[in-house]
Amino acid sequence: MNADPAAQRRLLDLAVVDADLTRAAHRRRSLPELAEIEQADKNLRASRDSLVAAETAASDLDRDIRKLEAEIDQVQARGERDRGLLDSGSISSGKQLEDLQHELTTLRRRQSVLEDDLLEVMERREATETELERGRAGLAEIEQRRFDAVRRRDAALADLDATETTRKQQRQAIIGELPTELVALYERIRARNGTGAALLREGRCGACRLELDRTALGRIREAPPDQVVRCEECGAVLVRTAESGL
Ligand SMILES: [Zn+2]
Repeated sequence: MNADPAAQRRLLDLAVVDADLTRAAHRRRSLPELAEIEQADKNLRASRDSLVAAETAASDLDRDIRKLEAEIDQVQARGERDRGLLDSGSISSGKQLEDLQHELTTLRRRQSVLEDDLLEVMERREATETELERGRAGLAEIEQRRFDAVRRRDAALADLDATETTRKQQRQAIIGELPTELVALYERIRARNGTGAALLREGRCGACRLELDRTALGRIREAPPDQVVRCEECGAVLVRTAESGL
């Protein structure tokens, strides 16, 4: 294929724009914030699960506390009733008095056991509260970290959007100046190998970095300037300039 050497050189500008577009696409997929957000989501799930477990434990303990308190109230009420009866002097039977005394002793013992139980449950409830507070603080921290990562990701994406819009406009402008056939060739090579055109610099292909041998260089040296020459290794259009080392 033949093409005006100026058009061939312009392919280098197109290749620079395309390399930028490729970099932007790669960056879009590999933003560190994406992994950060994914990790934060995992941590959020784990943190929420353990918070739910602590909340369940706390509400179970609250229920136990209410039950024990109700039992203590009952025992106390019963004791007060018994003491009322004793104090009233209305009971004259010695057997009845003895039974009442006995019941009061039993009730005192029972109350003491219940109060010990209540104390123990309340201590566990307090420990659970500490755990809950820690869990809530941990969750808030993870949510904040995720929020920050999302903000950074969105800023990076907005930058990439702007870069891509500019580069695509530049791409269209360059393509508009070039012969259709040359662009078609460039696009074909780019689709296959990633780089459509490169500078031949000091005898080396700018796309695959291969150093051309003397025979290949000789062929290129003898080719007319408007002939489109290509790298034998990667197929890229090799653009010749004063830097080519020919
Ligand atoms: Zn090459």
